[in-house]
Amino acid sequence: MTIAQRISEIRGRIDRAAASAGRDGSEITLVAVSKTFPAAAIDEAVSAGITDLGENRVQEARDKKPQVHGSARWHLIGHLQSNKTKDAVRLFDMIESVDSIELAAKIARAAEANGKTQQVLVQVNVGREAQKDGVDPTQLQATLEAMKELGSLEIAGLMTIPPIGTPEESRRYFSMLRSQFESARGGMGSQFRHLSMGMSEDFEVAVEEGATIVRVGRAIFGGRN
Ligand SMILES: *Cc1c(COP(=O)(O)O)cnc(C)c1O
Repeated sequence: MTIAQRISEIRGRIDRAAASAGRDGSEITLVAVSKTFPAAAIDEAVSAGITDLGENRVQEARDKKPQVHGSARWHLIGHLQSNKTKDAVRLFDMIESVDSIELAAKIARAAEANGKTQQVLVQVNVGREAQKDGVDPTQLQATLEAMKELGSLEIAGLMTIPPIGTPEESRRYFSMLRSQFESARGGMGSQFRHLSMGMSEDFEVAVEEGATIVRVGRAIFGGRN
């Protein structure tokens, strides 16, 4: 199958999963995760209708972005080191991996210096795994409250990477993120509207549990080495 065929197949599966949950598939953004794949593959995806791309490294995005012809919104989905915040703000429309108040403050300062309002998601470590990035669920409210005080940031929602497991095992983590989102929502305003969860193996379950953004790499571009 070509990249275009895979995208169309995935879009169909998103729409069916949405319909089964009484949702409209058009409210779900498919982020094509292009890390490790060349600009030519990205161009193919954008020509096939992809509007949003995901990269996990600032450096790789900086190298590839100028070679990509089509226009798209770029999402940073990997851990952001604080010495790369300026580049990240310049390169990415959405930073999905904000995992501390300190990092949020650095991003806010860089955004202000750029005259930009930076869209961000707060990454939550729903499985409370020691090796994983993300805000601990018990600290989420306090983190969001502190982030609200920062200018030049649009806090657009939450993101998670659940512990490795089957799609059904992921479901309870997706559902946990959804509950956290619902409890935080009242205090956050209407721009707080996104739940980024679900990857190649489990995006349908994520959609059933309320994802508004799914991040799919291998199912679009093929395996990575
Ligand atoms: C690589 C990656 C994805 C996509 O994973 P696939 O298994 O290739 O679909 C999604 N989210 C994050 C944070 C990633 O690093």
